[in-house]
Amino acid sequence: MAAQFVLPGKVYLVGAGPGSAKMLTLRAAELLRQADVVLHDDLVSAEVLALIPAHTAVHNVGKRCGFKRATQEEIQRRMIAAAQAGQSVVRLKGGDPLIFGRTGEEIRALRENGIEFEIVPGITAATAAAAAAQIPLTDRDCASKLVIVTNHPSPEKDSRDWHRSISRDATLVFYMPGGNFAPLREELRASGLDLDTPCLLVSRASQAGQTMLRTSLRWLAETEAIPAPAVLIVGAAVAGANAEEWTPAVIPAQDSFGITQEISLSLDESKAVDENTFAL
Ligand code: SAH
Repeated sequence: MAAQFVLPGKVYLVGAGPGSAKMLTLRAAELLRQADVVLHDDLVSAEVLALIPAHTAVHNVGKRCGFKRATQEEIQRRMIAAAQAGQSVVRLKGGDPLIFGRTGEEIRALRENGIEFEIVPGITAATAAAAAAQIPLTDRDCASKLVIVTNHPSPEKDSRDWHRSISRDATLVFYMPGGNFAPLREELRASGLDLDTPCLLVSRASQAGQTMLRTSLRWLAETEAIPAPAVLIVGAAVAGANAEEWTPAVIPAQDSFGITQEISLSLDESKAVDENTFAL
Protein backbone atom coordinates (compact mmCIF):
# COMPACT_ATOMS: atom_id res chain seq x y z
CA MET A 1 0.00 0.00 0.00
CA ALA A 2 2.69 2.49 1.00
CA ALA A 3 5.23 0.96 -1.38
CA GLN A 4 6.16 4.31 -2.90
CA PHE A 5 7.44 5.51 0.51
CA VAL A 6 9.70 2.52 1.02
CA LEU A 7 13.27 2.70 -0.24
CA PRO A 8 13.94 -0.89 -1.23
CA GLY A 9 17.27 -2.50 -1.87
CA LYS A 10 19.41 0.29 -0.58
CA VAL A 11 22.11 0.59 2.08
CA TYR A 12 22.51 3.63 4.30
CA LEU A 13 25.88 4.12 5.98
CA VAL A 14 24.76 6.24 8.90
CA GLY A 15 26.56 8.13 11.64
CA ALA A 16 24.94 7.72 15.07
CA GLY A 17 26.91 10.60 16.61
CA PRO A 18 28.73 10.50 19.94
CA GLY A 19 25.95 9.04 22.08
CA SER A 20 23.26 11.54 22.91
CA ALA A 21 20.21 10.92 20.71
CA LYS A 22 19.86 14.70 20.46
CA MET A 23 23.04 14.76 18.40
CA LEU A 24 21.62 12.49 15.72
CA THR A 25 20.85 14.14 12.37
CA LEU A 26 17.21 14.35 11.30
CA ARG A 27 18.12 12.17 8.30
CA ALA A 28 19.57 9.47 10.56
CA ALA A 29 16.47 9.49 12.78
CA GLU A 30 14.21 9.25 9.71
CA LEU A 31 16.17 6.30 8.31
CA LEU A 32 16.12 4.48 11.65
CA ARG A 33 12.33 4.72 11.63
CA GLN A 34 12.07 3.38 8.06
CA ALA A 35 14.73 0.64 8.00
CA ASP A 36 13.93 -3.04 7.59
CA VAL A 37 17.22 -4.02 9.16
CA VAL A 38 19.82 -2.20 11.26
CA LEU A 39 23.38 -3.50 11.61
CA HIS A 40 25.11 -1.52 14.33
CA ASP A 41 28.46 -1.26 16.09
CA ASP A 42 29.03 -1.48 19.84
CA LEU A 43 29.74 2.21 20.04
CA VAL A 44 26.14 3.10 19.19
CA SER A 45 24.41 4.18 22.40
CA ALA A 46 21.30 2.58 23.91
CA GLU A 47 19.64 5.98 23.65
CA VAL A 48 20.00 5.96 19.86
CA LEU A 49 19.02 2.30 19.54
CA ALA A 50 15.84 3.05 21.49
CA LEU A 51 14.62 5.13 18.53
CA ILE A 52 14.40 2.01 16.32
CA PRO A 53 10.84 0.64 16.08
CA ALA A 54 10.27 -2.74 17.75
CA HIS A 55 9.43 -4.51 14.45
CA THR A 56 12.82 -3.68 12.88
CA ALA A 57 15.47 -6.41 12.74
CA VAL A 58 18.43 -5.10 14.79
CA HIS A 59 21.82 -6.83 14.85
CA ASN A 60 24.85 -5.86 16.88
CA VAL A 61 27.83 -6.61 14.65
CA GLY A 62 30.25 -4.91 17.06
CA LYS A 63 33.41 -6.18 18.53
CA ARG A 64 33.43 -6.10 22.33
CA CYS A 65 36.07 -8.29 23.92
CA GLY A 66 34.91 -11.68 25.06
CA PHE A 67 32.24 -12.07 22.39
CA LYS A 68 32.67 -13.39 18.91
CA ARG A 69 32.22 -10.53 16.56
CA ALA A 70 31.21 -10.60 12.92
CA THR A 71 34.19 -10.11 10.63
CA GLN A 72 34.19 -7.12 8.31
CA GLU A 73 33.56 -9.50 5.40
CA GLU A 74 30.55 -11.06 7.16
CA ILE A 75 29.10 -7.63 7.86
CA GLN A 76 29.48 -6.69 4.21
CA ARG A 77 27.93 -9.98 3.06
CA ARG A 78 24.91 -9.50 5.34
CA MET A 79 24.45 -5.92 4.28
CA ILE A 80 24.62 -6.79 0.58
CA ALA A 81 22.37 -9.87 0.88
CA ALA A 82 19.67 -7.86 2.68
CA ALA A 83 19.81 -5.09 0.07
CA GLN A 84 19.64 -7.62 -2.74
CA ALA A 85 16.52 -9.05 -1.07
CA GLY A 86 14.95 -5.62 -1.45
CA GLN A 87 15.44 -4.44 2.12
CA SER A 88 16.31 -1.00 3.37
CA VAL A 89 19.49 -1.54 5.38
CA VAL A 90 20.94 0.91 7.88
CA ARG A 91 24.56 0.28 8.73
CA LEU A 92 24.81 2.35 11.92
CA LYS A 93 28.18 3.46 13.31
CA GLY A 94 29.22 5.60 16.28
CA GLY A 95 30.19 9.17 15.47
CA ASP A 96 30.76 9.81 11.79
CA PRO A 97 30.90 6.77 9.51
CA LEU A 98 33.82 8.18 7.52
CA ILE A 99 36.16 8.54 10.48
CA PHE A 100 37.76 5.31 11.70
CA GLY A 101 34.64 3.44 10.68
CA ARG A 102 35.94 0.98 8.06
CA THR A 103 33.52 2.58 5.69
CA GLY A 104 36.01 2.64 2.81
CA GLU A 105 35.84 -1.17 2.67
CA GLU A 106 32.06 -1.11 2.75
CA ILE A 107 31.85 1.48 -0.03
CA ARG A 108 34.09 -0.69 -2.23
CA ALA A 109 32.02 -3.82 -1.55
CA LEU A 110 28.74 -2.00 -2.25
CA ARG A 111 30.08 -0.59 -5.53
CA GLU A 112 31.45 -3.97 -6.62
CA ASN A 113 28.02 -5.50 -6.04
CA GLY A 114 26.11 -2.69 -7.71
CA ILE A 115 24.17 -1.81 -4.54
CA GLU A 116 22.76 1.68 -4.28
CA PHE A 117 23.88 3.47 -1.12
CA GLU A 118 23.80 6.77 0.71
CA ILE A 119 26.15 8.09 3.38
CA VAL A 120 24.72 10.08 6.28
CA PRO A 121 27.36 11.96 8.28
CA GLY A 122 27.33 12.10 12.06
CA ILE A 123 28.94 14.21 14.77
CA THR A 124 32.37 12.76 15.30
CA ALA A 125 34.03 12.29 18.71
CA ALA A 126 36.52 15.13 18.08
CA THR A 127 33.86 17.80 17.70
CA ALA A 128 31.66 16.34 20.43
CA ALA A 129 34.61 16.37 22.83
CA ALA A 130 35.66 19.89 21.86
CA ALA A 131 32.10 21.13 22.35
CA ALA A 132 31.94 19.48 25.77
CA ALA A 133 35.19 21.17 26.81
CA GLN A 134 34.25 24.49 25.18
CA ILE A 135 37.37 24.73 23.04
CA PRO A 136 37.87 25.42 19.35
CA LEU A 137 39.77 22.80 17.36
CA THR A 138 41.19 25.46 15.09
CA ASP A 139 42.01 28.97 16.23
CA ARG A 140 43.34 31.77 14.12
CA ASP A 141 45.86 32.69 16.81
CA CYS A 142 47.24 29.29 17.72
CA ALA A 143 45.85 26.35 15.74
CA SER A 144 45.89 26.49 11.97
CA LYS A 145 45.43 22.78 11.42
CA LEU A 146 43.53 19.85 12.83
CA VAL A 147 44.97 16.34 12.73
CA ILE A 148 42.72 13.37 13.39
CA VAL A 149 44.84 10.34 14.14
CA THR A 150 44.57 6.98 15.86
CA ASN A 151 46.94 5.87 18.58
CA HIS A 152 45.97 2.32 17.69
CA PRO A 153 47.40 1.87 14.19
CA SER A 154 46.63 -1.06 11.95
CA PRO A 155 49.25 -3.78 12.58
CA GLU A 156 49.63 -4.34 8.84
CA LYS A 157 51.04 -0.96 8.05
CA ASP A 158 53.28 1.72 9.44
CA SER A 159 50.96 4.56 10.33
CA ARG A 160 53.66 6.47 12.14
CA ASP A 161 53.88 8.90 9.25
CA TRP A 162 51.52 11.19 11.13
CA HIS A 163 54.55 12.65 12.90
CA ARG A 164 55.06 14.84 9.90
CA SER A 165 51.77 16.58 10.72
CA ILE A 166 52.90 17.60 14.20
CA SER A 167 53.65 21.24 14.77
CA ARG A 168 53.00 23.77 17.51
CA ASP A 169 50.11 25.25 15.59
CA ALA A 170 48.31 21.91 15.13
CA THR A 171 45.52 20.45 17.22
CA LEU A 172 45.99 16.68 17.38
CA VAL A 173 42.99 14.50 18.19
CA PHE A 174 43.82 10.90 19.03
CA TYR A 175 41.03 8.38 18.64
CA MET A 176 41.42 5.00 20.39
CA PRO A 177 44.11 6.55 22.59
CA GLY A 178 44.61 3.46 24.79
CA GLY A 179 45.78 3.76 28.39
CA ASN A 180 49.56 3.90 28.14
CA PHE A 181 50.61 7.39 27.12
CA ALA A 182 54.35 7.12 27.90
CA PRO A 183 55.41 6.15 24.34
CA LEU A 184 53.07 8.73 22.85
CA ARG A 185 54.45 11.48 25.08
CA GLU A 186 57.95 10.64 23.92
CA GLU A 187 56.90 10.65 20.29
CA LEU A 188 55.29 14.04 20.69
CA ARG A 189 58.32 15.48 22.47
CA ALA A 190 60.66 14.00 19.88
CA SER A 191 58.54 15.71 17.24
CA GLY A 192 59.14 19.10 18.81
CA LEU A 193 56.25 19.70 21.22
CA ASP A 194 57.29 21.09 24.56
CA LEU A 195 56.26 19.68 27.92
CA ASP A 196 53.83 22.49 28.63
CA THR A 197 51.68 21.64 25.62
CA PRO A 198 48.11 21.36 26.92
CA CYS A 199 46.41 17.95 26.71
CA LEU A 200 42.80 17.02 27.29
CA LEU A 201 41.15 13.63 27.78
CA VAL A 202 37.43 13.44 27.13
CA SER A 203 35.59 10.25 27.94
CA ARG A 204 32.02 9.49 26.82
CA ALA A 205 31.49 12.87 25.22
CA SER A 206 27.80 13.87 25.17
CA GLN A 207 26.81 10.85 27.28
CA ALA A 208 25.66 10.57 30.89
CA GLY A 209 29.11 9.54 32.17
CA GLN A 210 31.02 12.29 30.38
CA THR A 211 34.41 12.97 32.07
CA MET A 212 37.18 15.42 31.17
CA LEU A 213 40.72 15.83 32.45
CA ARG A 214 43.08 18.60 31.45
CA THR A 215 46.81 18.17 31.87
CA SER A 216 50.03 18.87 29.98
CA LEU A 217 52.41 16.74 27.99
CA ARG A 218 54.62 16.70 31.11
CA TRP A 219 52.10 14.62 33.05
CA LEU A 220 50.41 12.81 30.22
CA ALA A 221 51.96 9.44 30.99
CA GLU A 222 50.96 9.64 34.68
CA THR A 223 47.39 10.77 34.05
CA GLU A 224 44.83 8.44 35.56
CA ALA A 225 42.90 6.27 33.13
CA ILE A 226 39.43 7.39 32.17
CA PRO A 227 36.77 5.07 30.76
CA ALA A 228 36.45 4.26 27.06
CA PRO A 229 35.44 5.56 24.65
CA ALA A 230 37.73 8.53 25.04
CA VAL A 231 39.73 10.91 22.88
CA LEU A 232 42.96 12.70 23.67
CA ILE A 233 43.33 16.24 22.32
CA VAL A 234 46.77 17.86 22.29
CA GLY A 235 47.67 21.41 21.36
CA ALA A 236 47.51 25.08 22.27
CA ALA A 237 43.78 25.26 21.53
CA VAL A 238 43.16 22.97 24.55
CA ALA A 239 44.47 25.63 26.98
CA GLY A 240 41.05 27.14 27.62
CA ALA A 241 39.25 23.84 28.20
CA ASN A 242 36.51 23.95 30.78
CA ALA A 243 37.72 20.76 32.45
CA GLU A 244 39.19 19.59 35.70
CA GLU A 245 42.97 20.15 35.87
CA TRP A 246 44.98 17.04 36.62
CA THR A 247 48.46 16.87 38.14
CA PRO A 248 49.91 13.86 39.96
CA ALA A 249 49.58 13.73 43.75
CA VAL A 250 53.20 12.59 43.96
CA ILE A 251 55.69 14.05 41.51
CA PRO A 252 57.84 11.21 40.12
CA ALA A 253 61.50 11.78 41.12
CA GLN A 254 62.87 10.37 37.91
CA ASP A 255 61.28 8.47 35.11
CA SER A 256 62.77 6.40 32.36
CA PHE A 257 62.69 9.34 29.99
CA GLY A 258 64.74 11.72 32.14
CA ILE A 259 61.83 14.09 32.56
CA THR A 260 63.00 15.21 36.00
CA GLN A 261 66.07 16.81 34.53
CA GLU A 262 63.91 18.82 32.15
CA ILE A 263 61.73 20.01 34.98
CA SER A 264 64.72 21.35 36.88
CA LEU A 265 65.88 23.19 33.75
CA SER A 266 62.55 24.83 33.26
CA LEU A 267 62.47 25.79 36.95
CA ASP A 268 65.79 27.54 36.57
CA GLU A 269 64.47 29.48 33.63
CA SER A 270 61.01 30.27 34.90
CA LYS A 271 60.82 32.03 38.24
CA ALA A 272 57.05 31.98 37.93
CA VAL A 273 56.91 28.34 39.02
CA ASP A 274 56.77 27.63 42.74
CA GLU A 275 59.89 25.56 43.41
CA ASN A 276 58.23 23.79 46.33
CA THR A 277 55.86 22.17 43.88
CA PHE A 278 58.60 19.88 42.74
CA ALA A 279 60.59 17.90 45.32
CA LEU A 280 63.62 17.40 43.13
N1 SAH B 1 33.42 6.90 13.87
C1 SAH B 1 33.70 7.31 15.22
C2 SAH B 1 35.06 6.82 15.67
C3 SAH B 1 35.16 5.32 15.77
S1 SAH B 1 36.70 4.78 16.42
C4 SAH B 1 33.59 8.83 15.32
O1 SAH B 1 33.51 9.50 14.29
O2 SAH B 1 33.56 9.34 16.43
C5 SAH B 1 36.30 4.61 18.14
C6 SAH B 1 36.92 5.74 18.93
O3 SAH B 1 36.16 6.92 18.80
C7 SAH B 1 36.96 5.49 20.41
O4 SAH B 1 38.05 4.67 20.78
C8 SAH B 1 37.13 6.90 20.94
O5 SAH B 1 38.48 7.32 20.76
C9 SAH B 1 36.28 7.69 19.97
N2 SAH B 1 34.92 7.95 20.51
C10 SAH B 1 33.77 7.54 19.99
N3 SAH B 1 32.71 8.01 20.69
C11 SAH B 1 33.23 8.77 21.68
C12 SAH B 1 32.65 9.54 22.73
N4 SAH B 1 31.34 9.64 22.92
N5 SAH B 1 33.49 10.21 23.57
C13 SAH B 1 34.84 10.13 23.41
N6 SAH B 1 35.43 9.41 22.42
C14 SAH B 1 34.64 8.74 21.57
